[in-house]
Amino acid sequence: MNNDFINQSIEFVKGIGPSRSKLLTEELNIKTVKDLIDFYPYRYIDRSRFFKINEIPKNQSEVQIIGKIRSIRRTKVKFRDRLNCVFYDDTGKVDLIWYRGFNWVEESLKVNEEYVIYGKVNWFGTNCSIAHPEIKTRNSFNKNIPRRLHGVYSSTEKLVNEGVTQKYFVKIIFNLLNVLQNQIKENLSSSILNDFKLIGRYKAIVNIHLPESQELLTESTRRLKFEELFFNQLGFQLTKNDRIQKLSGFKFEKVGDNLNKFYKHNLPFELTGDQKKVIKEIRNDFRDGKQMNRLLQGDVGSGKTIVSLMIMLIAIDNGFQSSILAPTEILANQHYKSLNELLSDFDIKVELLTGSVKAKDRKSIHKNLLSGKTNILVGTHAILEDIVQFKNLGLSIIDEQHRFGVAQRAKLWKKNNPPPHILVMTATPIPRTLAMSLYGDLDISSIKELPPGRITTKTVHKYDKNRLSVFKFIRGQIKKGRQIYLVYPLINESEKLDYKDLMDGYESVVREFPRPDYQVSIVHGKMSGKDKDFEMKRFINKETQILVSTTVIEVGVNVPNASVMVIESAERFGLSQLHQLRGRVGRGNEESYCILMTKDKLSEESMLRIDTMVNVSDGFKLAEVDLKIRGPGDILGTKQSGVLKFKLADIIYDTKILNNARLCAINILENDPRLIKKENLPIRNELSSSSNSKNLWRYIS
Ligand code: ADP
Ligand code: MG
Repeated sequence: MNNDFINQSIEFVKGIGPSRSKLLTEELNIKTVKDLIDFYPYRYIDRSRFFKINEIPKNQSEVQIIGKIRSIRRTKVKFRDRLNCVFYDDTGKVDLIWYRGFNWVEESLKVNEEYVIYGKVNWFGTNCSIAHPEIKTRNSFNKNIPRRLHGVYSSTEKLVNEGVTQKYFVKIIFNLLNVLQNQIKENLSSSILNDFKLIGRYKAIVNIHLPESQELLTESTRRLKFEELFFNQLGFQLTKNDRIQKLSGFKFEKVGDNLNKFYKHNLPFELTGDQKKVIKEIRNDFRDGKQMNRLLQGDVGSGKTIVSLMIMLIAIDNGFQSSILAPTEILANQHYKSLNELLSDFDIKVELLTGSVKAKDRKSIHKNLLSGKTNILVGTHAILEDIVQFKNLGLSIIDEQHRFGVAQRAKLWKKNNPPPHILVMTATPIPRTLAMSLYGDLDISSIKELPPGRITTKTVHKYDKNRLSVFKFIRGQIKKGRQIYLVYPLINESEKLDYKDLMDGYESVVREFPRPDYQVSIVHGKMSGKDKDFEMKRFINKETQILVSTTVIEVGVNVPNASVMVIESAERFGLSQLHQLRGRVGRGNEESYCILMTKDKLSEESMLRIDTMVNVSDGFKLAEVDLKIRGPGDILGTKQSGVLKFKLADIIYDTKILNNARLCAINILENDPRLIKKENLPIRNELSSSSNSKNLWRYIS
């Protein structure tokens, strides 16, 4: 047999043939023998054990019994024929019933011959029956049915109609596995197998399809999950090592005047332990001559801004420019403003570049960047444009990562050679497991500790029917000089209905809080940048007490005097979004509140989400819960979730295996970066043969 059989079309597998092969490809995307081997069952039925009739547990759904037929009899129930057999063993009897297609049964079954039956049991009191059982003579059973657990495969009606039944799958795969015994090769080194006590690959694949026992199924699953995650992490490590090798980075060795001065005289507060730790991690990156690619996770309000400022000072002290990329104009403005304040007595030029900067002003911004006159550029997407070039960009910071993707990072890379150091900051912490499988090539820093004196925002849930009491509460807060956010969901920016909700809401708020005693701002995505800014500024300057808005204020906005966040139709938001919104308050020293308004009737899932918000304030914990409720796809959006499609592994529950697989991958490449040692040959061979790893092969060939 050809050695390459495993990569051939399933058409050549015994028992499949051209027409079924075509159907399997169309219905299940199974093309090659390998695809078929990789098509794992989604559950199992136990064909390894036989039940004695009097020992069948009441909760057992499917059973297999050896016994004989005592009688075969046609009966009529409501004018319809059915076939009734009494089947017995030495402990009792069950009724076998056929409602249709039983001519062949009647003709071929023989009283007093030994059969093996298999099927779903029904109980009527103590009476047990099985409708349409699978029935085989003892001989034929021994020949045809492997005494194991049998995989149950997902299938389609069309396939079943063409004879591709569960039995068919089992038979084909059982035969195939025998044929492939010498072709399914180990792809992990023996030291990995030993260290993690994993069973061999062939054995695992056989037992994932047709487990000899429950224990072997567990072991096979663990082995195959490990393999899957190991190659995933190995890929990240190879990519990362390659990048580190090829790309040197700028060395920022000096601790210069700007940083020293800022640290001694201008730092408005003592840094938290975590802030110090992160700055240290980044300074180490700056010193080692490699390009930094780091993700900084820190809950809203954890103080990422000051960290970014201080590391930009290091860049400046070493003669380099920096940039900050923000997802919205509001945020870019805010960064620009706070940088200018913090650096007011420094000789540092900060410029702002957003979509609404006029062409004339752009020219001078471009010029100042090229000449090196500008030290820090703050902006939105506009700074990614090719026309924006720097004299020597040494550090690029991306704020609020989840709005930006890999493509944006790549654009920043191209703005200098070697590329600038990159720090991606996100306030939507993603669980470590997710970060590892998604940004496995980034280093990760976390700020978990909040600045001292923070009062946790009090979160409450109110039904729409209690609206009046909420308004009363708001009035009380405004009397105390506080400001209020009132957020409406705009799930789909183009939905007319959502806008109507927002405008209706705005009008009712204005009615409830009339001028001249109250001033209300409104901000939403359909307004021009200028109008938005105008309204935001009124709120920031305390000219208005209430800001009615959509989620455009979700990220980063900082108005410490605003202490109440009211979220309308909170049931329509995801946890991480609710948490982001809640993070807008609790930024000053006042007691802050987040009020989740919902409709009166909630689904169980919505209720769970709202309860979680009320009880959990830590963003990292919320992220874990969110992942469990919604799954990774929803959290990251469909685009990114493709990255996370594993056949067996589940990044929510298989954290331990993922950690082991990651450490193992790092360890192996540390000792053998190009995988050329003899013991790692199996891994090398896997990378050379698997089509998934084609892009990795170049790193080690
Ligand atoms: P985020 O991580 O959400 O970007 P910010 O950097 O905006 O958070 O910080 C939130 C608030 O906390 C700001 O008002 C900031 O001045 C303040 N802050 C940051 N670090 C500290 C600290 N170590 N001690 C006291 N206040 C701090
Ligand atoms: Mg921020």
